Amino acid sequence: MDKSTSWHSLSIDKVLQETGSNSNGLSDDAVQKKQAEFGKNELKAKKKKTAITIFLRQFLDVMVLVLIVAAVISAFLGELSDTIVIVIILILNAIIGFVQEYRAEKAMEALQKMSAPSTNVLRNGQTSKVESVELVPGDIVSLTAGDTVPADLRIMESDALKINEASLTGESNTVDKNPDTLEEQDPPLGDRFNMAFKGTAITSGKAKGVVIATGMQTELGKIAGMLDDAESSTPLQKRLSAFSRRLTVIIIILCAILFAVGFIRNEPWEQLLLTTLSLAVAAIPEALPAVVSVSLALGARRLMKQQVLIRKLYAVEALGSVTYICTDKTGTLTKNEMEVKSIWTADKEGEDMLLSAMRSSHDSEEKDGKWTGDPTEVAMLAYAKDQEELKRLKEIPFDSERKAMTTIHEKEGKYWMITKGATESIQGMLADKNFSDEIKKQEEQMAKEGMRVIGFAGKMLDQLPDKPVAEELEKELAFIGLAGMIDPPRKEAKDAIGECKRAGIVPVMITGDHPLTAAAIGKELGIVEKEEQVITGKELEALSDQQLDEKVEALRVYARVSPEQKLKIVKALQNHHQFVSMTGDGVNDAPSLKQANIGVAMGITGTDVTKESSSMILLDDNFATIVKAVREGRRIYDNIRKFIKYILTGNAAEIWTIVLAPIVGLPIPLLPVHILWVNLVTDGLPALALATEAEEKSIMERPPRSPKESIFAQGLGIHILWVGLFIGLLTVGTQWYSINHTETHWQTIVFTVLCLAQLWHVMAIRSEKRSLFSIGLFTNTPLLLAVGGTVLLQLAVIYVPILNGFFHTQPLTAGELGLAFGASAIVFVVVEIEKLIKRSMDKKKK
Ligand code: ADP
Ligand code: MG
Repeated sequence: MDKSTSWHSLSIDKVLQETGSNSNGLSDDAVQKKQAEFGKNELKAKKKKTAITIFLRQFLDVMVLVLIVAAVISAFLGELSDTIVIVIILILNAIIGFVQEYRAEKAMEALQKMSAPSTNVLRNGQTSKVESVELVPGDIVSLTAGDTVPADLRIMESDALKINEASLTGESNTVDKNPDTLEEQDPPLGDRFNMAFKGTAITSGKAKGVVIATGMQTELGKIAGMLDDAESSTPLQKRLSAFSRRLTVIIIILCAILFAVGFIRNEPWEQLLLTTLSLAVAAIPEALPAVVSVSLALGARRLMKQQVLIRKLYAVEALGSVTYICTDKTGTLTKNEMEVKSIWTADKEGEDMLLSAMRSSHDSEEKDGKWTGDPTEVAMLAYAKDQEELKRLKEIPFDSERKAMTTIHEKEGKYWMITKGATESIQGMLADKNFSDEIKKQEEQMAKEGMRVIGFAGKMLDQLPDKPVAEELEKELAFIGLAGMIDPPRKEAKDAIGECKRAGIVPVMITGDHPLTAAAIGKELGIVEKEEQVITGKELEALSDQQLDEKVEALRVYARVSPEQKLKIVKALQNHHQFVSMTGDGVNDAPSLKQANIGVAMGITGTDVTKESSSMILLDDNFATIVKAVREGRRIYDNIRKFIKYILTGNAAEIWTIVLAPIVGLPIPLLPVHILWVNLVTDGLPALALATEAEEKSIMERPPRSPKESIFAQGLGIHILWVGLFIGLLTVGTQWYSINHTETHWQTIVFTVLCLAQLWHVMAIRSEKRSLFSIGLFTNTPLLLAVGGTVLLQLAVIYVPILNGFFHTQPLTAGELGLAFGASAIVFVVVEIEKLIKRSMDKKKK
């Protein structure tokens, strides 16, 4: 039997038997055996990078290989010690590169583990949550709306089950599923109504099913090769790679010219070749994209501590560009701790009925004397706790589209159907519309005070429907009453909103609640000021796309909207080139999250489907956490700019030094080992330490960065050019001076100046605009240690006799060392002056 095709035509008992399972689920023993046989339930589309391949890749750089070959050749012609030093430096270089990349890789892996979904599974007759990758064929799993199907299943039980299989079949309509065995032998996947396939989304209802295939054996696994790599490079990485490639070509051409000129000037070609190649290796910023991924990955790890789980690395850099934060209200801006404050019924007799309905119509469970479930319902339960609960027989679950839910209860031999929900929804279901005005008045009174109002209606049924359907049942109802509850705003939300506004970010509330409730909370939090900033879903529907476009930037609160409309809002904002972050929790939120520039899923209330379409997850569902993430994102981006500034300025300085000297008639100032050494000690530790720099003071007081803005914007590119040239001039100037004064030690002096100049530079660029003295010398310990360590290493190269031999250096006199320190310190002074000018220009602008 071809197992992969005919599970649908087997009875459930037969499926259980074939998979070695039974109605109690697998035993632990069986699970273990099956795990050994079938492996993990995961799609292995991407090969893991091993430590060794990461290490070896560091040498694959063409320039490094060429340099090694050249060093070996020249070893035969000249000194062996040069070759050894060059190779050692290259190995050290590779180790630094390896450590960085390996850390980034580990950090990403850890993040992916954190966001791994889990599933309720029945084993040994007991239900527990296990990570979905641990599932094996024969496992019996329970799923509900919002879950992603974790493996291929034969459905055993279902309740109003609908699944969206677009990810597998491309069909965008949802499919009704049920456990009935199919006759047809080989129907297309889309017609296997008693099967659920890995990776598809449960849009409503519930299901229980037995796993028949996992991992690569699933239908999704069979096409997994076609899936694109989820974690491809971020836009910044792509742009930097392209930039590196262009720069590489320029540097190679430059080095070739340098070689040719030297050759014509009759310099010994072996030495010349090594020098130009060393310069190429040192100046080509091949590691830049890797260093950027380290920063992004480490940033993601820091965000984790702030309750933000990054699913796509891209989000870390994108956070700094956010201009609109569209957020839910309930639970995100508010505490989601509801309390019923008032109820209203048409007459006194109705009150008992309302209380009874509040006590009975819910989907919550009692556990150890505490109610768990939707806080809206728990609040009503608490209010009506002295009532007797009526047994619930059937239910049509709440959905945020129709904003209502229905339960059917046994009452005096008949069936009492209770529908509760948004008052507009309830009113539309009433048989008697006579006192609509009164209901509306009462509701508005409560809503104005920021209360969330739930309406109740009901009717008696003679017969219990087998499968209750909303459209058939939710009509001809009798009004019961209203319950109004408060949900206080979160303490930190108001501050966070103030922070957003100062940072040029517009906070927008999107809620299913009543416009008056939403407006009241929005006012309290500082989101809205004017009534015109509030719109309802109905009004939104009436607008043409063009009308919405005109209005969208003025709107702050969207009330009574359905999840579909969120998509419209995102698109309209994007038409204005806004960079939108959108939150969501339900299945229907997935499209808008995907469309948003940053899709944010709720960690607590969010469904699998939403989480999988998000680029980051808020573990605490808190609005203030989004703002913290933006802040952190801006800091990370700032620091990436800082180390790009540092590395590229240093590289430019190295090139200028080598190029300028022959132009002014001086000998090439540095030997290959010097160039490689300067590159190693300066690019390595100080650059990494810059990534730990604390945020700029004004980080949330400036407008968001345009996502199109080049990393070299805001004076970065110009800084690299002029400071690079300046350091070059300084070095060659020192060379000219020392050749005329000290004769023998000039090369060691020049070598030291070039090295120290970079260290002075790094201290000066810790802040974009503030002076080192105002941010404090001791506020970045790693950097201070890196700089101190590098100085010690340089001193060792100058003063340790055996290193003198390897590096062709001479011990400097105190005066010469002083000259090197003094000359290089000029860089610090001029860059501080640059910042001073920037500050005074900022002041003028204000
Ligand atoms: P939000 O989360 O944006 O506040 P929801 O989509 O959760 O909005 O709810 C929208 C409306 O649906 C609420 O204003 C309320 O009237 C109604 N509602 C919410 N929860 C329930 C529930 N458990 N049962 C019935 N109606 C509900
Ligand atoms: Mg809600």
